[in-house]
Amino acid sequence: MATDPDCIFCKIIQGKIPSKKLYETEKSYAFLDIGPVAPGHSLVIPKYHAAKMHELPDDSLADLLPIAKKIAVATGADQYNILQNNGRLAHQVVDHVHFHVIPKPSQEQGLVVGWPTTKPTPEELQAVHEKLMQKL
Ligand code: AMP
Ligand code: ZN
Repeated sequence: MATDPDCIFCKIIQGKIPSKKLYETEKSYAFLDIGPVAPGHSLVIPKYHAAKMHELPDDSLADLLPIAKKIAVATGADQYNILQNNGRLAHQVVDHVHFHVIPKPSQEQGLVVGWPTTKPTPEELQAVHEKLMQKL
């Protein structure tokens, strides 16, 4: 199992830093976020240390979302966001993969999303589709 001795989330998994644990499996760990943007804001992390989602083995990745689902249900939130940031520009602060479960109880509380929509031409959309399809 990959770990990083300097990683804050690896230390939480090992019990070296305290956390409000919610759930644990052989491959994953879930706990309350220390700086919640809404009550119930939680984090689901793999025990395998990887900074970004694409660096995580599929078996670890596959273990995470069913736990996020359980926690989303447990919060009782009717509306919520699942968020997973990769890289500083994408608002990643902690370099250990984590899925946020964020209840959205009101307009003001929870995740506030900027969504800068663009209007590509059909040709531009086609070019992006072709480029991606070459790699899939
Ligand atoms: P991100 O911006 O996606 O990297 O989010 C990192 C999250 O980790 C933030 O929401 C922090 O509040 C949270 N966080 C950082 N340190 C701790 C900690 N020791 N216990 C719980 N949550 C933490
Ligand atoms: Zn780590």
